[in-house]
Amino acid sequence: MSAPATTSSAQTAAASTEDPRLAASRSQIMFRQVNEETRRLADNSELDELQIVCECDHGECLSQLSISVDEYEAVRRFPTRFLVSPDHAGHDERIVHETSEYLVIEKVGPGAAAAIRHDPRKPPARAQTT
Ligand SMILES: [Zn+2]
Repeated sequence: MSAPATTSSAQTAAASTEDPRLAASRSQIMFRQVNEETRRLADNSELDELQIVCECDHGECLSQLSISVDEYEAVRRFPTRFLVSPDHAGHDERIVHETSEYLVIEKVGPGAAAAIRHDPRKPPARAQTT
């Protein structure tokens, strides 16, 4: 009687059925959080130019781009907009502004909803009830 060691299902536990485009936008959302931290630190150092990471959906992109604080703030007013390196716009993104340093892209489709849901500038949900 050999031990019928019940198969450990650790590998299948992480299986995901979600739209790959949503997974891609999750990494963008993460990079946006990183840049928000950079932006916060800039307040203390009185820099007027930020060195931020590319917010494209390539996942492993390590590009950096520089942008003025004012420009950065203008983009962050829109939860569906992201800052990416030139040529890094994805399929479900349209370019709303283009410079030699970076592109401002706007998510369309399912990625946009995720981007809005995780808007780092969004006031707490409770405050919205009137
Ligand atoms: Zn990129």
